[in-house]
Amino acid sequence: MYCSNCGSIMDDRQAFCPFCSTPNPNYRQNVPPPQYGPYNYGPPQFYRDVSPYSPYNVNPENEPAETPLLVFSAIEPIIGLIAGIASLSRHEKRAGRAYLLAAGISFGVRVLIVIMYVVFSVLLIS
Ligand SMILES: [Zn+2]
Repeated sequence: MYCSNCGSIMDDRQAFCPFCSTPNPNYRQNVPPPQYGPYNYGPPQFYRDVSPYSPYNVNPENEPAETPLLVFSAIEPIIGLIAGIASLSRHEKRAGRAYLLAAGISFGVRVLIVIMYVVFSVLLIS
């Protein structure tokens, strides 16, 4: 609220105005202080801080994506698949099966990671 005498902003936890010492009629003890921290976007009753540079907005989604790693991760099983097909077309059955097995395991691990990511996201949100 605002001081009735000088108009400066007063917190309900302040018994007197810090500028002119007028008593605060809204004074309440044991009001919990506003909670700050990562993942807490500041006191929403006062303002909403939307700056991505604010220390209160440490959000994993604001961090840069590891794009080259993601691209390699996505094409790696495809490389194995192509190498396997190429080997089989040259009648190199052992090498072809090995490449295809590696590509399959690699793809399966990615599917598992995506499933775990979705499951844990749902568990953490709810
Ligand atoms: Zn005042």
